Amino acid sequence: MEQKYKQEQEFPLASVAELSSSLSSPVPESSPVFARFGVGTSGTAELQFHRESESIDGFRVDLRAAQLFKLGPVQSVCISEGSNDKKEKSYSRGITIQFRDEEESSAFHCAFDQWNKEVVQGTDLANGVVSDSKKSKFDDKVEPYSAKMYFHYYGQLLHQQNMLQDYVRTGTYYAAVIENRADFTGRVVVDVGAGSGILSLFAAQAGAKHVYAVEASEMAEYARKLIAENPSLGQRITVIKGKVEEVELPEKADILISEPMGTLLVNERMLESYVIARDRFLVPNGKMFPTVGRIHMAPFSDEYLFVEIANKALFWQQQNYFGVDLTPLYGCAFQGYFSQPVVDAFDPRLLVAPAISHTIDFTKTKEEDLYEIDIPLRFIASVGTRVHGLACWFDVLFDGSTVQRWLTTAPGAPTTHWYQLRCVLSQPLYVMAGQEITGQLRMIAHSSQSYTIYLTLSAKMWGPGAEQGGILQTSSCKLDLKEPYYRMSQPQAYAVAQDQQPHPLMHAQDIQIQGEDLEEPELLQQQIQNTGGQLQ
Ligand code: SAH
Repeated sequence: MEQKYKQEQEFPLASVAELSSSLSSPVPESSPVFARFGVGTSGTAELQFHRESESIDGFRVDLRAAQLFKLGPVQSVCISEGSNDKKEKSYSRGITIQFRDEEESSAFHCAFDQWNKEVVQGTDLANGVVSDSKKSKFDDKVEPYSAKMYFHYYGQLLHQQNMLQDYVRTGTYYAAVIENRADFTGRVVVDVGAGSGILSLFAAQAGAKHVYAVEASEMAEYARKLIAENPSLGQRITVIKGKVEEVELPEKADILISEPMGTLLVNERMLESYVIARDRFLVPNGKMFPTVGRIHMAPFSDEYLFVEIANKALFWQQQNYFGVDLTPLYGCAFQGYFSQPVVDAFDPRLLVAPAISHTIDFTKTKEEDLYEIDIPLRFIASVGTRVHGLACWFDVLFDGSTVQRWLTTAPGAPTTHWYQLRCVLSQPLYVMAGQEITGQLRMIAHSSQSYTIYLTLSAKMWGPGAEQGGILQTSSCKLDLKEPYYRMSQPQAYAVAQDQQPHPLMHAQDIQIQGEDLEEPELLQQQIQNTGGQLQ
């Protein structure tokens, strides 16, 4: 892209001082001070501070690595990354800027944003305000196209609305925050992935001293607007546009609040960002809301779901489709359908064994621990039936000082926009009551912000002759958590269909038609927005 620089701009200030006195002595407040946006000697965009015509030694900020925060109506701090003379170690520095009045403060902020957008992002940086021109941990792991689509999605109000309208979700967050006021009152809070800013506003309602709302998508602009127009709370909230892996904050947080959960808890890989935010911003032994997450798993039996999925591939069984034999692709289509985890709300009576769980303690887990998650499975079947796969859901705990609150997505509990997730085996297993089912669930993170799931379930053979052998029947499947099949059926309608539908296969195919022909994910997302089939 062509590099184009704007005209220099100058702003009068009341005073300016370096936060860390080791780098430079404060500027005497006797003579008038100015801030000037311009191009430095190295040809890069700079913010320079000077007294009359003389530039102030050491008060030069490279705009590529600078962020500006409002501390009050006429006070701001400019945080930038610098390096020492040998360019070995980088450090953060802060310059406090005192304006003469509010108007001059907002004019300066406007100019800063413009310079940052046009000069800096337009040339050097692709994704918002960053602290360093190096690639971040986020960029190292995530495919740029995936990140682009991801933040594009969350930049739209309709998707934020979908989450806000999940009253189980938002209501539980609200209750967890308000009932644990003691954890927020007078505290510094960081909202990790703030979206519309709703959790920041809750934290401010609970008496937070200051909330830093970090949001990487364009939603940051809407959050700013929402927060600014709720002024009694907004005064204590600063929205920072950028990734938690990249932005710098002027102070440490006493508590983090976030909603980083995706389908099966881990989809979107945002838990990793939550953990990185913990390591970067949280004081030792600070609190995290949520504190702990658990993935629950149990085998299920669902003949209708199985037939529905198997039937989808039947299309490719046609030998004369406009004179063309489609059967060569039948096997691939069959595989393809069984590699999609199914997202819907199911009746908990479909479970054939008590669930087991895998706990992730957000306060302790290492980011790398989330790259590969291996869960050994062992269940005892409560009934004799055909097992069609593994059903999964999650819950998170807000471990407040006053009240402990769980947000659950379990089958049978009030439905959330996450629903539940089922991995369906193309080869079901036969089990008897009391029989052991063993296996493994392995989830391996990939660079499209999701996971490849490997599921294996085994049970001893039963029926005539099985007593002698003890032979295992084993069934495996590989699924991509990024490509789920959103199968939204109402839980009550489901029970009717299961027990009374006279033509269950007809019914299954009807369901199939609803979303099937929409190849375009955008369209699909929009169609299902109200039923919650979003990224999470
Ligand atoms: N906190 C809001 C939004 C939750 S959705 C609410 O509870 O309603 C998760 C949000 O986190 C999205 O808006 C997404 O853009 C943002 N996000 C995801 N990863 C991020 C990252 N690494 N840095 C900053 N924001 C991120």
